[in-house]
Amino acid sequence: VHPTEVVESLLDRISSVDPKLKAYNYLHPERALESAKKADLSLPLGGVPIAIKDVINVRGEPCTCSSRILEGYIAPYDATVIERLRAAGAILLGRTNMDEFAMGSSTENSAWGVTRNPWDLSRVPGGSSGGSAAAVAAHEAIAALGTDTGGSIRQPAAFCGCVGLKPTYGRVSRYGLTAFASSLDQIGPLTKSIADAALLLEMIAGQDPRDNTCAPEHAPSFSKKLGEEIRGMTLGVPKEYFVSGIDPEVEAATRKAISHFEELGAIIREISLPHTSYSIASYYLVATAEASANLARFDGMRYGRRASGCDDLLETYGRTRDEGFGREVKRRILLGTYALSSGYYDAYYLRAQKVRVRIREDFLAAFRDCQAIVTPTSPTPAFCLGERTEDPLQMYLADIFTIAVNLAGLCALSLPCGFTRSGLPIGLQIIGPMWKEETILQVGYAYE
Ligand code: GLN
Repeated sequence: VHPTEVVESLLDRISSVDPKLKAYNYLHPERALESAKKADLSLPLGGVPIAIKDVINVRGEPCTCSSRILEGYIAPYDATVIERLRAAGAILLGRTNMDEFAMGSSTENSAWGVTRNPWDLSRVPGGSSGGSAAAVAAHEAIAALGTDTGGSIRQPAAFCGCVGLKPTYGRVSRYGLTAFASSLDQIGPLTKSIADAALLLEMIAGQDPRDNTCAPEHAPSFSKKLGEEIRGMTLGVPKEYFVSGIDPEVEAATRKAISHFEELGAIIREISLPHTSYSIASYYLVATAEASANLARFDGMRYGRRASGCDDLLETYGRTRDEGFGREVKRRILLGTYALSSGYYDAYYLRAQKVRVRIREDFLAAFRDCQAIVTPTSPTPAFCLGERTEDPLQMYLADIFTIAVNLAGLCALSLPCGFTRSGLPIGLQIIGPMWKEETILQVGYAYE
C-alpha cells in the first residue's frame, strides 16, 4: 500500500471513532496527505503516519498542552524529535490530547475534554499521554510520541493495551518539549509492538547540542537484540511492589508473565527496593517545585492567551494565569512554590532530593544482582471516568510503580500481558539500568 492510502484509511478511521474517543486535539489532513504523496519509502519511517502529543512543538502549528493558557500560541520552531522524525520520513498526522501540561494520570485534566479508553468508553485511557495511547490502540495512528515524567507513557500504554517506552533520562532531546519537570521529563514512543518502539526510539534518540541534559552516549541500534534469547538472564522482582492495594487480576497476570520468563530460561530473583514507599512523596515535591518554576513563563506576555481589560501588569499576570490554568495545574504551582519557599525549602524540597538519591541507590544496588526488573505497570487496570477526579491522592497512586524510574533516571517499558475478566488490558513493566533500552526491549520482545 502507498502511504496516501494509509493516511486516507487512518483519516476514515479517525472520523468514525474519534468523535467518541477524542484522542486527537487536532489533525492536519491536507498536510498529512501532501507529505504522503511525496513520501520517500527508502527512509526508515518513510510514509509512516505518527501522532504527536500536544506538548511537543511543531513549527507553524498550535501546541496547546491541553491548556487554555496556550490558546492562540503558534510554535515558531520544530522540536528536535520532530526534526528527526521528518528526516526519517515520518508523516505528522495530528496532535493528541493529554492532561494539561502533562499533569495527571487519566487525561481528564484537559481543557479540551476527556479522552476515552477504546476498550471501554466509560473508562479513562490513562494519562497524561492518554490521547497518544488511545490513538494507537484504536488504530487511529501507526504510532505516537508521548512524554513521561512519572509514568505518563507507560501507564496509558498499560491502560490501552499498547507498548510504551520511557527512555533513560538524557537519551532523547527535550528541545522543543514544553517543560513540566525538567529533571524527570523524557519523550518516548507509544506503539503497537516492541519492534516499532525500538525503531521509533532509534529515530529520535541521540545527542543534541540544543539540550545540554541530552547525553553524548552513543545511541545503539535498539533493534539489534530483538529475538536474542533471554536464557540465563537474571530478572529481579521487587518485593515492595506486591503489597496491598494491587488489583488481584493485575497481580495474577504479572506473576504469570514472570513464570513465562522462567520458562524462557530467565533466572528470577527477589530483590528489594527499600525506599519505594517514599517515591510518591518525593516525586510530588520535586515535580511540583520544577513545575512552579517552569510554568512561571506563562504570564500573558510571551505565549498564547492574555486576559483582557486589566489595568496594570500585575493584574494582567494574575488574571491571565487564573483564567488560563486549570485546577490541577494551579494546585501544583501552589505546592511547588510552597516547597521552594525560604523556611520550608530544607524541610521539603531538599529532603525530597535526598530521598531521591536513596531511591536511585536502591536501583543501583538491585542492578548488581539482575539485568532488568519486572513489575506491574500500574496497580489497577483502567478506572472509570470521574472515579478519581475528586481525590488527587487516589489519582497520584496510579503511578506508584512508575514514578521511581523517573526519579532514578532509568529506562522502562510497558507491554501488554493479558486482560482482566471484563476485557481490560493489563500492562507489565520492565525496568532497566541507565542506557540499557536494548536489554528491556530484548526482554519485552521475548515475552511478546
Ligand atoms: N501522573 C503523574 C503526574 O501527574 C505523571 C505525569 C507524567 O508522567 N507526565 O505528575
